[in-house]
Amino acid sequence: TTVSLEKTIYTLGQMEKIPEPQIALAGRSNVGKSSLLNCMTNRKKLAKISSVPGKTRSLNYYLVQPGNFYLVDLPGYGYAKRPKSERNVWGNVMEHFFTRNKSLVGLILILDCRLPPQTMDMELVAMAQAISVPLLPVLTKADKCNQRERTVTHRAWVDVLGPDADPLFFSSKSRQGRAQLWNEIHNLVQA
Ligand code: GDP
Repeated sequence: TTVSLEKTIYTLGQMEKIPEPQIALAGRSNVGKSSLLNCMTNRKKLAKISSVPGKTRSLNYYLVQPGNFYLVDLPGYGYAKRPKSERNVWGNVMEHFFTRNKSLVGLILILDCRLPPQTMDMELVAMAQAISVPLLPVLTKADKCNQRERTVTHRAWVDVLGPDADPLFFSSKSRQGRAQLWNEIHNLVQA
């Protein structure tokens, strides 16, 4: 599998219709999204691991071959220090991405396996449900969680998402969950 950065979008004006299937990756700043993308693609620096939280502000389109689909890395949310003017611009780009995008076939929601569901995570869940885009919840940093913590967080997400949800444990450090996540991504693209 090869994964390459094809497009970087900063503004509404740069957005265009993309016919290929897209799977979005979203999560709060610092949750481990860049690390997950790098782990998935066996690349150390494909996505920048941020020393400054909330710094990545673009939508990054990574083309996956074979398969001819995109993984779209969305800006980390929940970073309060961002200027309000900019947050509004972002709101528009994100709203456009989610509501005017017929090629969006799934949303990978990256969550911290040590934390209970956070407000902004829940907002994204509600949005995905509103537009009927399948959600793939991933509980990352699993290497930092003991079994009891895992059980508690998993149960909390099943309470939010319903009994059919099965959040996937993942670790960019141990690579736990990597093969399964690729499977689930391919299933969404082929569905
Ligand atoms: P992003 O802001 O969501 O892209 O998060 P990053 O990928 O930049 O990761 C934030 C911090 O968490 C970095 O210090 C990473 O090294 C660390 N991190 C990310 N994923 C994992 C993981 O699975 N296990 C551990 N132990 N640390 C991780």
